[in-house]
Amino acid sequence: MEQCACVERELEKVLHRFVMYGHQSEERLDELLRSVCDIRGQLVAFGVQDADLSVLSQTMAQCCKNIKETVQMLASRHKDIHGSVSKVGKAIDRESGVVIDMNMKQPFLELNRILEALRMQDLRPALEWAVTNRQRLLELNSSLEFKLHRMYFISLLSGGIGNQVEALQYSRHFQPFASQHQRDIQILMGSLVYLRHGIENSPYRSLLETSQWAEICNIFTRDACALLGLSVESPLSVSFASGCMALPVLMNIKQVIEQRQCSGVWTHKDELPIEIDLGKKCWYHSVFACPILRQQTSESNPPMKLICGHVISRDALNKLTNAGKLKCPYCPMEQNPSHAKQIYF
Ligand SMILES: [Zn+2]
Repeated sequence: MEQCACVERELEKVLHRFVMYGHQSEERLDELLRSVCDIRGQLVAFGVQDADLSVLSQTMAQCCKNIKETVQMLASRHKDIHGSVSKVGKAIDRESGVVIDMNMKQPFLELNRILEALRMQDLRPALEWAVTNRQRLLELNSSLEFKLHRMYFISLLSGGIGNQVEALQYSRHFQPFASQHQRDIQILMGSLVYLRHGIENSPYRSLLETSQWAEICNIFTRDACALLGLSVESPLSVSFASGCMALPVLMNIKQVIEQRQCSGVWTHKDELPIEIDLGKKCWYHSVFACPILRQQTSESNPPMKLICGHVISRDALNKLTNAGKLKCPYCPMEQNPSHAKQIYF
């Protein structure tokens, strides 16, 4: 409890600073807006006369100076707040007393090191890692290693004719991927014809698109995480973000249910009363709804495959079982309910 209070104190400090920052910036911005409005008013009132203009231009210069100073001041105070925010993080680390074994940290440190290099367009650490983990990557159906070799080849191409021999030699790395990436390799080799004139002036110029670097970083992160058995996004942040999207919709539906007094609609605690679309990135696995009970199956009520191939939930199977026999509600084959097999999605 003492630890929580300690973290809370740090948190309160940060919140206080945020509020103060909000007030100060609002005040300063209002002040600036007022002086800009004044200048505009003067311009409208006096018309464009030489005498007025010299005075006005001074006022305007002063106003610009004030704006610049305010922006700098706000930026530096914002930076200070960041310091306080990181203090909260440190306080949590210190007070939680969680000690993470270095052996657990090691793979993450290595992945971050490789990713940093990749962001700086240095492919070597990623290539070394991919070659070391070749077998496991292939098992995951990953084409990371080929894509890294491809990028290395492209970086040689962008160096021009001076790299021709090296590029040709490097192309040997494509050999193990020939059957799976034939088309890509043909394009890469075809581009060599234009090396003398520069790839950027050739029909192969799309090979030099810089967006490929962001893409290769994403592929590396995804495949490396899959190899470690981790999800790319933190499960906590995914749950939090999904909650933020779903909550307003659920609040609305709750209000509607209350207004129409049909509270019986939402009785299953594992199931939402309506479908909430969180976008494709939140698709993880298929779901199965029992066609008899019209409920989504769960761990306690899993889908069961009958001998005839039809699938219903276990609760439905139990309900339909009569004197140790089950008549499939679809075909309707008579069978022993104990022969039904649980299926997993
Ligand atoms: Zn059947």
